[in-house]
Amino acid sequence: MKYISTRGTAPVLDFEDTLLAGLATDGGLYVPESWPRLSRETLASFKDKSYAEVAYEVLQPFIGGTPDNDRFREILESAYQAFEVPDVAPVVPLGGQHYLLELFHGPTLAFKDVAMQLLARLMDEALLRRGRRATIIGATSGDTGGAAIEAFRGRENIDIFIFFPEGRVSDVQRKQMTTPTDSNVHALAIDGTFDDCQALVKDMFNDADFRHETGLAGVNSINWARVMAQTVYYFTASAQLGGPDKEVAFSVPTGNFGDIFAGYVAKQMGLPIAQLMIATNINDILARVLKTGTYEIGDVVASTSPSMDIQVSSNFERLLFEATGRNAAEVCRLMRELTEKRKFSLSSNVLDVIRGSFAAERVDEVETAKIIKDMFEKDGMLLDPHTAVGYGAALRSDLPVSTPIVTLATAHPAKFPASVEKACNRQAEEIIVTPERVKVMMKQDETYETYPNDLAQVQDFIRQKKTD
Ligand SMILES: *Cc1c(COP(=O)(O)O)cnc(C)c1O
Repeated sequence: MKYISTRGTAPVLDFEDTLLAGLATDGGLYVPESWPRLSRETLASFKDKSYAEVAYEVLQPFIGGTPDNDRFREILESAYQAFEVPDVAPVVPLGGQHYLLELFHGPTLAFKDVAMQLLARLMDEALLRRGRRATIIGATSGDTGGAAIEAFRGRENIDIFIFFPEGRVSDVQRKQMTTPTDSNVHALAIDGTFDDCQALVKDMFNDADFRHETGLAGVNSINWARVMAQTVYYFTASAQLGGPDKEVAFSVPTGNFGDIFAGYVAKQMGLPIAQLMIATNINDILARVLKTGTYEIGDVVASTSPSMDIQVSSNFERLLFEATGRNAAEVCRLMRELTEKRKFSLSSNVLDVIRGSFAAERVDEVETAKIIKDMFEKDGMLLDPHTAVGYGAALRSDLPVSTPIVTLATAHPAKFPASVEKACNRQAEEIIVTPERVKVMMKQDETYETYPNDLAQVQDFIRQKKTD
């Protein structure tokens, strides 16, 4: 498989180069040159297969033989062994046609583990084959950092440096980044905001000498391999609910548009999906663009679902590329307009294409808390705030009642105990069943450095600490 940039001028790459490149050199995002199609027979066979076996069938066409097929199977088996439950992503009925797809059984209790565990192994393998090392850098507002550190700890050919805003992540999130003792892991608390952390990462990537000297690579959600890995659970969920003979809808709590774009990819590959519901919190740029056709950047407002507190949704560019009929010149024009005017408007054609596959709903803070409380009181079941936003949007879907609708449960409630406690008006310890490995982790010692928001100092730290 070859990969092309949404902006049309970056070099065409194979899978491993795309994996290691992250962002394309023209500022665009890599997408496969065409969508592989799976036959109905293949889709029908998924209900009798393990998660890793389905992953192999779904992902092999994107990999194209490097790593070779046997090795790829081994990597998949190993990646999903990191999950607490054998089926990796169980589907749980919620009553009526509503279901939850539990994606939080990985080591850091958020869905980002599902992709990151695979990404880290594929990167390590690609580097080994090339006789190279890489330095991963990433900024996090909470979930990505822990998932990345957990996936990359102890990998042979990679050092990882994660920057988080000092004092602005939850205790569980910080401990997930600061308790691993592996020598290739470095967590840095930056005296600043998440935006400052992100700006540091961006500046380091723009420093060509530094980038070259350290072999910089990124793991944020614009990396194609993360989106790719997330397509698998759409297939396994559909197979459990009668697919491909029955259409299934998905409601996806959305920030950077990576997870839901994976659903779109599954649909392009032939999975019968009735609707992809974009569920946003009060940071509702995506819900607004679907309603009005105008994509307009507002101010980020802090919410109880912080992993969705985003205004510029990077992966939306991939959908624009698709909806414009893969017109890179048009994508460039829209992105330029966004930089200059902080907004752009979609033509009615493009908007119609998007509305053909997607719906969108905004769920505010009051409703999110109410959903958590009602669900707990009715069924004794706890949703984390991100999942509650997804379920709130699913409840508003206009689909026929015969269509199953699956809400993606993107985090475990134990990761956001304060919000759950407040919504239910009960002590967190009384109602949340905290996984054993989290209890153990919370008692472990932390090691991390605190740094001012200063590019040169952080770069020096990386030069000193990375493995030669
Ligand atoms: C990252 C994250 C999201 C948003 O996913 P995107 O791919 O950025 O849309 C939703 N929920 C949780 C818990 C997350 O960590």
